[in-house]
Amino acid sequence: MTKGNINVSVENIFPLIKKFLYSDHEIFLRELISNATDATLKLKHLTSIGETTVEYGNPKIEVKIDKEGKKLHIIDQGIGMTAEEVEKYINEIAFSGAEEFLDKYKDSGKDAGIIGHFGLGFYSSFMVAEKVEIITKSYKEATEAAHWTCDGSPEFTLEPSDKTERGTEIILHIAEDSTEFLEESKISELLMKYNKFMPIPIKFGTKEVNVALPEDAPKDAKPEKKTIDNIINNPNPAWTKLPADLKDEDYKSFYRELYPMQFEDPLFHIHLNVDYPFNLTGILYFPKMTNDLNIQKDKIQLYQNQVYVTDNVEGIVPEFLTMLRGVIDSPDIPLNVSRSYLQADSNVKKIASYITRKVADKLKSLFNDNREDFEKKWDDIKIVIEYGMLSEDKFFEKADAFALYPTVDKKYYIYDELIEKIKDNQTDKDGKVVILYASNEDAQHSYIEAAKTKGYEVLLLDSPIVSHLMQKLESSKENISFARVDADHVDNLIKKEETTISKLSDDEKKQLEDILKEAIPSEKFMVQLEAMDSDASPFIITQPEFMRRMKEMQATGGGGMFGMGNMPEMYNLIVNTNSELVGEILNTKTKKKQERLISQSLDLARLSQGLLKGKELSEFIKRSYEMIK
Ligand code: ADP
Repeated sequence: MTKGNINVSVENIFPLIKKFLYSDHEIFLRELISNATDATLKLKHLTSIGETTVEYGNPKIEVKIDKEGKKLHIIDQGIGMTAEEVEKYINEIAFSGAEEFLDKYKDSGKDAGIIGHFGLGFYSSFMVAEKVEIITKSYKEATEAAHWTCDGSPEFTLEPSDKTERGTEIILHIAEDSTEFLEESKISELLMKYNKFMPIPIKFGTKEVNVALPEDAPKDAKPEKKTIDNIINNPNPAWTKLPADLKDEDYKSFYRELYPMQFEDPLFHIHLNVDYPFNLTGILYFPKMTNDLNIQKDKIQLYQNQVYVTDNVEGIVPEFLTMLRGVIDSPDIPLNVSRSYLQADSNVKKIASYITRKVADKLKSLFNDNREDFEKKWDDIKIVIEYGMLSEDKFFEKADAFALYPTVDKKYYIYDELIEKIKDNQTDKDGKVVILYASNEDAQHSYIEAAKTKGYEVLLLDSPIVSHLMQKLESSKENISFARVDADHVDNLIKKEETTISKLSDDEKKQLEDILKEAIPSEKFMVQLEAMDSDASPFIITQPEFMRRMKEMQATGGGGMFGMGNMPEMYNLIVNTNSELVGEILNTKTKKKQERLISQSLDLARLSQGLLKGKELSEFIKRSYEMIK
């Protein structure tokens, strides 16, 4: 037997290991199973290149709880180690690796500056164990098995063992404060979290299954039970396969495997597959989205060679894509670094732009291949696309090929089609193409109708960030502007050369203005006289586009650059001087009747904007009944 100090030159790092990253003690299991997987894959490689003649077979990794003995076993059938290799790999290399790792990261401590905490490796087992044993036998012929023991001090013992099968067994003597790791439910949870898609089958206990009955079995025959290994993982998840080998149904069933609690199918998927200049595979899914930006993040899982790392992909995937779901697997993402370092990493930057491009290309081909279907899905995906257009310039450029602008009549245009369609009719006297839109069909109904009467197209743009997007489109496209249908009278929204002649003389207008001023609160409404068609509404309330949009942008963040502070609720009241009713207001001799006509008209205008509420609404209703009595 050999006794020794793992490393005489340093102090005991074990207390540090134990203290380190307290909240993440559970990762020890992932580290040990990763080692077991590596050892197995190494053997596979050696047999495949003919380096050894040993039978590779169908190796698995077994995780076993010995509750009474307070032990946890991780057993593999990989290459194993000789005593010399244990000395070298465990005592020297792994130890100094752990030491280096701790040295680097003990200060960054518990704040999740480190993604996944890869790197601590084998010695992470001392976060939960007071003693660790390794019993290992190398695949090399005529070598003796070795038994290494260490009780969490730098001292170890190394002696021969009578293990006869190839591979390594790690035995953790679980510490008093970590007995949760002796619970079946806990281990099972961890295996599901970290190892669900690892490439070597992992056995955890056994399970009973029914043996299929022979075809000629009698009707009342009971199927026989059989006990088989409980394999907890799927060693060949969809993302490791070639897109050509997968059908749509395979993608859907993999989605259900990833999100067992998700009952709705994804809308579509994107299979990522690159090997130059970095390695990356994965599948991203577009789920049905709602308009709530916040609740749908953190659903993409990051893997490294099929080992789960994190579901926080911030910094790796562009932010707008964090609303998607799925898996990204890359050995090229540096994992034991802080997020700020990660974001600056050039590989990671390339990955982000690759993913963005790939998503844009896929959207384009979905649109081109089946436009009808794409249009149907638009409402469920627009939030991601609009967000992407806002936040990633590359995506913005590409989005012209698939971003849709739906009308209130359920027609869908891409940008160029829209402009082509409206440019003749909706260009104003300054040569600007005015894109009209509504955000709420019911609330803005009368304005939409007024615009349609003129033959104008009205878009329906109702997502929460659309005001930011319009701002961006206005500044990056030539000569266009957006205006909500209720931002002004339609003739003012798209000002053409010819103006309707006013029926009122200048004197009469002055007179009308004075009358209105008296009856209408000036702090709420800016009165504006307009000569419009005589059958247009007498009173129209509008909210100027600029003010309203700035307000909306403030509400969803980012509009503050204009320093508008808290903007007051201010509306325009457009009075159609050519309408019969306005003529009547002007010509009514009794003041009382005049006031009543004005307040009734104003209330009707407010009603059509949804601005009449509470007490004022009750009074309006009462007054209206009295008038028809
Ligand atoms: P890493 O896995 O990052 O190299 P570890 O500390 O986890 O670092 O392991 C150190 C070394 O010990 C491994 O590189 C490997 O050579 C050896 N080792 C660990 N676990 C096993 C195992 N189950 N079978 C064979 N060798 C192992």
